Formats: sequence, structure tokens, C-alpha cells
Amino acid sequence: MSGKLYVVATPIGNLADFSLRAVETLKQVDLIAAEDTRHAKQLLQHYGINKPLQSLHQHNEAQISQGLVDKMLAGLTIGLVSDAGTPLISDPGLPLVQQAHKAGISVSPLPGACALIAALSASGMPVSRFSFEGFLPRTASARQQFFSDKLRDASTWAFYESCHRIQASLEDMAAIFPAEHEIALAREITKLHETLIKAPLAEVLRQVQQDDNMRKGEFVVIVAGNPIDADRDDSSAEALRILKLLLKECSIKTAVALATEITGQRKKMLYQTALALQAGQDLP
Ligand code: SAM
Repeated sequence: MSGKLYVVATPIGNLADFSLRAVETLKQVDLIAAEDTRHAKQLLQHYGINKPLQSLHQHNEAQISQGLVDKMLAGLTIGLVSDAGTPLISDPGLPLVQQAHKAGISVSPLPGACALIAALSASGMPVSRFSFEGFLPRTASARQQFFSDKLRDASTWAFYESCHRIQASLEDMAAIFPAEHEIALAREITKLHETLIKAPLAEVLRQVQQDDNMRKGEFVVIVAGNPIDADRDDSSAEALRILKLLLKECSIKTAVALATEITGQRKKMLYQTALALQAGQDLP
């Protein structure tokens, strides 16, 4: 007699984006594990769902997941929800799902809203292949290093960002990526102030810098991939070769300045590469 775990997507803004099956299922489970029980209550009350709630968040999930698995082994059914969208997508729930699998409990997804997928679907970027980077590092230097690593990513990629860091993140990106690199900024999806801009990076950044409203709310950033271009590949390889030679003879500052002049590549990008070389990282 073992129970079951339902992983249930909830709306990301518009309460109507909750599936009929999610509502029916949550009305029938024995217990709902919710990232924030007060937050969940608002949605559940709206749909007339009245079930015992257990809070499950990033700070307690390691401790309480096994207890929930034991309840399911005893026959209870549990619904897992996060504050918004699909659980486990930059949200808690992984230990519970993993431990449920380990215990042989059936785990069933109830699909629905996910900011990443919603933004991708409307971005107009190729999506036959994409990668998701979650939230970016918090410091400017770590973000710039991250962007340098992504420069040569051939397929579309995406990240989540909060209103506190959207401008700084795009500024760090603009320090590494060419101004004309295409991105899509999806803000407040499904909400009153939903905005989706698809434009060159410099233009999106300009709007975020100049319009206070463009720094409010929740954001998904979709970034175009860099199609492999044989000429550019050759010139990047040549720039790397020159930079390595110069670093043997000069300071990092002089090497980067000379390499910028000789190769015509972006200074910031060469600087990041030089730092990575000095840190002993393996570069192609
Ligand atoms: N599990 C959620 C999902 O399926 O999308 C994501 C949770 S994560 C903690 C929250 C982040 O998702 C926000 O900071 C923002 O980057 C993104 N996000 C959530 N709702 C959004 C919305 N309505 N519009 C744009 N981005 C949103």
C-alpha cells in the first residue's frame, strides 16, 4: 500500500493558468507540501482546495523529505507545489522527488506554467535546442566570467533574473557580448504589465536603463546562440594564440592592450580570457 507524489505546476501570475486536473488532484491528495504555506493558501482558497499543508522550502527540504516519503510509504498521497510555476525549476523539491524514486513511490507530474518555457515559446528564438542557466552568479566579476564562457554557445540559452539585478546583469553582459547580439527580455509574463522585447542587447539595455518600469517585476532573459562561423572561429583561435604569447612576455594589462590592437577582438573578452589563462583554466 504505497501512496503517490504529484508534482504540480501552479500559475506564474495569472490565477486562471491552473489546470483543471491540478485542481481536481489537489482536492484529492492527503497533504500538500508547499514552498510557502501562506502563499499557497491564497491560490488554494481561490480554487476551494482545503487540505493540510506542510511547508517544504530550500532550508528544510533536506530534513523533512524522508518523513514525507515515509507518509507515502504508509499510503498517503502528496501534492508538491512551489510559489509559482513548476516545482524544481529554480525551486525546491529535488530531495523529495529523488527520495520518492528511491523508495519506489510513483511520481507523477501535473504540467502547467513555467516562466522559462513561456518566455521561450514567445521569444522567436530557435528552440530545437536550448540550455537553461537558472539564476546568474551574484557578483559582477563572476557574471562576466560566466558571460565569457557563454559567448561561444551555439544554441539559444536562458536565465532567470530579479528586479534587483536585471540592469547590472545586462550591463555585465554588454561588457562581454557584442552590442548587436540578439536577446529577448520577458517581463511579468501573464501579468498586467507583461512585456516582451526582442532586440539587440544594446537596445534592450537602453530601455532597462532609461525606463524605471522596465526594472520592475520578474524577468526571463533569452539569449540567441552564436552560430558557428568558421572565420570567427579562426580569428578567435588566432587571438588566443597571440594573447598566450604576449602573456609570456608582458603584464596582463599590456598583453591585453597589445592583443586588442593586433587582433581587433573585444578588450573585455580578451581580458577575461587572460584572467582565465592565468588562473590555469584549460581553453581551446
Ligand atoms: N518554478 C518557476 C517556474 O517554473 O518558472 C520559477 C521559480 S524562480 C524562484 C522565480 C523566477 O522565475 C523569477 O525571479 C523570474 O526570473 C522567473 N519568473 C517567475 N514568474 C515570472 C513571470 N511571471 N514573468 C517573468 N519571469 C518570471
